[in-house]
Amino acid sequence: MKVTKKTKNAQKVTPKKHLGQHFLIDTNIAEDIVNSLTNHKNYTHLLEIGAGTGVLTNFLLEKENFFVIEIDKESVTYLKKKYPQLPLVENDFLETTPDIWFQQESFNEKFAVISNFPYHISSQIFFKLLPYKNQVLEIVGMLQKEVAVRLAAKPKTKDYGILSVFLQAYYDIEYLFTVEPDAFDPPPKVRSGVIRLKRNDVEKLDCNEIKLAQIVKQGFNQRRKTLRNALKGLQMNEKVLQSHYLDKRAEELSVNDYVILTNLWEE
Ligand code: SAH
Repeated sequence: MKVTKKTKNAQKVTPKKHLGQHFLIDTNIAEDIVNSLTNHKNYTHLLEIGAGTGVLTNFLLEKENFFVIEIDKESVTYLKKKYPQLPLVENDFLETTPDIWFQQESFNEKFAVISNFPYHISSQIFFKLLPYKNQVLEIVGMLQKEVAVRLAAKPKTKDYGILSVFLQAYYDIEYLFTVEPDAFDPPPKVRSGVIRLKRNDVEKLDCNEIKLAQIVKQGFNQRRKTLRNALKGLQMNEKVLQSHYLDKRAEELSVNDYVILTNLWEE
């Protein structure tokens, strides 16, 4: 792996720390994050979201079909100078689609995502990726520790939530390791966690997915209540009302339980 030396010039355009971003400075950790990619199911393309000062990017340069999206002008100027060959899109990930990320019309290849996520929008990034689940075969990234734990949380724990259900329906999620604040500049107040999501074999859930989403959202919105109370607004039929699931709380149901419940609702 060739590490590009910083020139004096490049240092001049080093992005300012801004918008509450915390840049990873420990390159061993950066390498560990990159090495967590497995090329599960043979994707062909790779996207880095938010390259910042390029600490992960540096270890990704030799990957095939590697693309970067970064919203911040200063970071983009810096990255373009440091890596002139790198396909880099200056845009907001949340406002764009795979055609833009990979600079190709009707892009329908399989890809992986890697990121030291911008923590304030990490959940939105996962919601954004979900509709592309049949293309996104792997995601490796660092998040605020609590969020990372939540995504990987199992049913019947307090951390299990809406995104855990939606993501675990289609991905096997592993919490890999914790990163302490001193690995960043400036050090954040929170600890960080690195997770890996690997696409599972479920092509489509065996139920009406829109209805499932309604149940999950409504259930977790009032997560302390039993589903009988939390789902009151949804006008459940007798079949549902008689099921034992309604005496439980949203966090007690597995993805599979939600599928069964949704099908009862459809009957
Ligand atoms: N990868 C770098 C930076 C992580 S900080 C490191 O590990 O140090 C998060 C990065 O995401 C910042 O560079 C920030 O500018 C970028 N970012 C924030 N919101 C974004 C968005 N909506 N689209 C693309 N990039 C974004």
